[in-house]
Amino acid sequence: MEKADTPLRQVQANIAKACTIARREAGDVTLVAVSKTHPAEAIEPLLVQGQRHFGENRVQEAQGKWPALREAYPAAQLHLIGQLQSNKAEDAVALFDVIHSLDRPSLVKALAKAMDKLDRRIPCFVQVDVGVEEQKGGCPVADLPGLLEQARAADIPVAGLMCIPPFEIEPAPFFAFLDRLASDHGLDGRSMGMSGDYETAVKLGATHVRVGTALFGERASPL
Ligand SMILES: *Cc1c(COP(=O)(O)O)cnc(C)c1O
Repeated sequence: MEKADTPLRQVQANIAKACTIARREAGDVTLVAVSKTHPAEAIEPLLVQGQRHFGENRVQEAQGKWPALREAYPAAQLHLIGQLQSNKAEDAVALFDVIHSLDRPSLVKALAKAMDKLDRRIPCFVQVDVGVEEQKGGCPVADLPGLLEQARAADIPVAGLMCIPPFEIEPAPFFAFLDRLASDHGLDGRSMGMSGDYETAVKLGATHVRVGTALFGERASPL
């Protein structure tokens, strides 16, 4: 098989192939290029190649890098994929287009307040803790119905569910579980899959894959 000429083209080709296998449309999967820790000079080549969705895990870091990049590429869409402190909710709503880490009642309150204040409602994924043993962040499965109800009552647009499966365990069962959980709650979005497992996630229904290392190379710090 011909090798794609850039990491972006390779990842896109892998997603397309996984979609074919799963009888899905490649256009139904959004590739979120996770640019955390990488400088603007590393991000711009992807923008030039047409990539539009980017993920950052820290509000402050994104505030430093993105205003200038966005001026040059107004169609760029910014996704917050990391834990969000309630006191940063307003900054996050002002800067990001999608939040993937809504995980607790206090954050629902803070985000609703920020969205009201800024008159800007952005889609949010509820992050679910799908692990069985360690805490990986995310809302406990048992608390999900209550959190969804609270988010809807606060007029927060809920796009779907997000998970980070436990490391070093086969991720497929966790992806399948998140897919079923989203279906049970009538939600379309499934944010799941990273560099090591995005093809598996696509085969199991991911609508958003969050890929960093496969596009940018290893990060200097393990964040
Ligand atoms: C860093 C990060 C990713 C990307 O991880 P890679 O293994 O580099 O693809 C995806 N999702 C979240 C929540 C992250 O923090």
